[in-house]
Amino acid sequence: MSSTVAPTSRRRSVPVNVGGVVIGGGAPIVVQSMTNTDTADIEATTRQVAELARAGSELVRITVDRDEAAAAVPYIRERLDREGVGVPLIGDFHYIGHKLLSRHPGCAEALAKYRINPGNVGFREKRDRQFASMVETALKYDRPVRIGVNWGSLDQDLLARMMDENAGSKEPRSAADVMEEALVASAVESAVRAEEIGLAPDRIVLSCKVSDVQHLIAVYDKLAARCAYALHLGLTEAGMGSKGIVASTAGMAVLLQQGIGDTIRVSLTPEPGGDRTAEVIVAQEILQVMGLRSFVPLVTACPGCGRTTSTVFQELAGRIQSFIRARMPEWRRQYQGVETMTVAVMGCIVNGPGESKQADIGISLPGTGEEPSAPVFIDGGKRMTLRGANIAEEFQAIVEEYVRTRYQCVDPSLGAEGEPSAARVAAQ
Ligand code: SF4
Repeated sequence: MSSTVAPTSRRRSVPVNVGGVVIGGGAPIVVQSMTNTDTADIEATTRQVAELARAGSELVRITVDRDEAAAAVPYIRERLDREGVGVPLIGDFHYIGHKLLSRHPGCAEALAKYRINPGNVGFREKRDRQFASMVETALKYDRPVRIGVNWGSLDQDLLARMMDENAGSKEPRSAADVMEEALVASAVESAVRAEEIGLAPDRIVLSCKVSDVQHLIAVYDKLAARCAYALHLGLTEAGMGSKGIVASTAGMAVLLQQGIGDTIRVSLTPEPGGDRTAEVIVAQEILQVMGLRSFVPLVTACPGCGRTTSTVFQELAGRIQSFIRARMPEWRRQYQGVETMTVAVMGCIVNGPGESKQADIGISLPGTGEEPSAPVFIDGGKRMTLRGANIAEEFQAIVEEYVRTRYQCVDPSLGAEGEPSAARVAAQ
């Protein structure tokens, strides 16, 4: 019953291979994230990279801001490899990236991509030299770069020049419009410069991050129309909690729907002591609810209302959601396509049966005053009715059985339908 309505066709971009993960060229949109640990703290950074990767981040960016951080990078890579975490690492450089990359060849080697901010690479005559030095390191180690422009650190010489030109024109545009143009020009001109130095287009990713949703959409529309480089999409400084999630989703959804964006990062500010992996989950959910990728089975749950006055409904919806998340690591290994499954947990007869029929598997719980029974729908048809105190456990068993019989088993230790194989049983 699950259906995916694809957004409009994707913008064609040049694919970039980042340590085995392909960005652009029609590849699935890549989820990435960034650590907030001190990179010089090898243990803390390794731990957080591993957490982000296990949550589903396909690339992880780390700050490389000083010698101690650059020196730590090869050790972080080594530890991750030892733990079986192969996620490619991206180095985030500002101001002295050219020095750090030349002083620390182990760092240059261990990173799968370098992020260069053209606004922070140096001033005046040093800018071109230092930018060239970073690109030459990328060439030497055969690494791609992201030319990442940010409006908080936009090249001020370029902006001043464009503002002056605008002021002298017959029909001056707004300052915001010139700012957007300057962001795009900084990214595209830097990419052209990198190509002149020798970097191929399939080694260049571009981004132009701003913290305002409407500007983000305008800037990426212009950027996408002006080049074929792969694009990294994200709202910078999105903020905390629901504001950060809503702003990121609002901006990125419009662009993704237009087919713009080859990799995304959701820049959430975590609560003190909060879980950094939230940005990975949100990025995955944006892509999944838009029908662009599937990561975990989606649970459709109604919000509840005056017809669900007891807490039974909330408890059951929560338990099923937790059950699916907990089972997913094993299911993903064992059953091909299980991440596309949809589950509905509904609160009463009003929308319960209808919504449950739309899902692969759904349950419609009894609302206040309704007969205490819960019909279960599988692949659009009513299959059984649950009653009594163990509805949650029974429904979970039904979901488990559905997964086992519906999705192709790819675990050689199990039989075709997920039963332990005869060979394995015989060997026990
Ligand atoms: S399905 Fe029923 S319980 Fe859920 S929100 Fe609608 S009317 Fe309320």
